[in-house]
Amino acid sequence: MSAETQTRSPFILARAEVRAVERVSPNFVRITFGGDDFDRFGTPGDVYDVRIKIVFPPASGALPAIDRDTDDWWGAYQAFGEEERGSMRTYSVRELRVNPEGTEVVVDFVLHLEPGLTGPASLWASAAQAGDEVLIVGPRRGRESRGGIEYAPGEASKIVLVGDETAAPAIARILEDAPRDTRGIAFIEVPVAEDELPIDAPSGVEVHWLPRGGAAHGQRLLPTVLDFLGDTGHQEIVVQDAEGEDLVWETPIYSGSGEDLADDAGTHGDRYFWIAGESGVVTTLRRHLVKDLGIDRAQVAFMGYWRRGVAMRG
Ligand SMILES: Cc1cc2nc3c(=O)[nH]c(=O)nc-3n(C[C@H](O)[C@H](O)[C@H](O)COP(=O)(O)OP(=O)(O)OC[C@H]3O[C@@H](n4cnc5c(N)ncnc54)[C@H](O)[C@@H]3O)c2cc1C
Repeated sequence: MSAETQTRSPFILARAEVRAVERVSPNFVRITFGGDDFDRFGTPGDVYDVRIKIVFPPASGALPAIDRDTDDWWGAYQAFGEEERGSMRTYSVRELRVNPEGTEVVVDFVLHLEPGLTGPASLWASAAQAGDEVLIVGPRRGRESRGGIEYAPGEASKIVLVGDETAAPAIARILEDAPRDTRGIAFIEVPVAEDELPIDAPSGVEVHWLPRGGAAHGQRLLPTVLDFLGDTGHQEIVVQDAEGEDLVWETPIYSGSGEDLADDAGTHGDRYFWIAGESGVVTTLRRHLVKDLGIDRAQVAFMGYWRRGVAMRG
């Protein structure tokens, strides 16, 4: 591993070309990206829930001409005017294929296309064709840090993964990368039953898909998870609006709201919880888990992946 790799930014900026587009279900499109820049892309071990940033072209169709060798991709992106820089959004890596003939990154995009409730990423994904291009910011191959990976079950004997459709690709990747003797349970809420996609999970992890069938986000997930945890006191669950401007982000080692972290942050007891999805739904679950059920926050990663009624800004 070169010394230069360790001193550079842990992230690279890649120009990525669409290699394949597959409509895998009513609400997911699977897009495979390739290109020479991905020779510099990779995680230090398994991929798990590593996040990437994707820059989608503006109306002109021309991506911002950012120097791809920069260590300051954020500053370079911000330096372009709003009309020129396009839109940046966060995604997970459903699959990373490192082959002698090149590296490919597969992303599962949720299609939310209702007028007034859609956004540039979803619109782009719905029309993507082989040859289209985006910019992708992701982990630099050869770096030892786990930049962008949150999943960290430590010594926990059981994992509990909870998410909506935006978290389904990360949950699937976590389960396919997890040691085969991992035990636990996953709850994944999706729009309809046809969105239940194959996951090669360890045999000791039960995967429960929860189709909403037209109900609001969280309406299947919240009662199911609370019942599972033995929170029988809940009657009607009111989904809270997420607090503040930002997405909720409270993990054992980081607090977006500035809460004190436990001294033993990062070490878990019996169970490790990983919870991601619509920010208000995640905030609601957090309240029940931490305040009502007394689950130690050092055991849980709570992550808002998007927010109802709010467009992301990168
Ligand atoms: C770490 C991380 C990993 C993520 N991984 C994935 C992934 O692998 N696949 C994936 O599809 N998404 C993923 N997301 C979520 C994705 O970044 C957001 O859904 C994002 O808002 C989509 O951008 P957009 O341009 O389509 O919509 P925006 O311009 O951000 O939002 C426009 C409108 O669409 C609404 N909206 C946004 N997303 C949804 C949705 N899913 N369903 C219904 N309404 C929505 C917003 O509330 C807003 O009203 C991830 C987010 C994070 C933080």
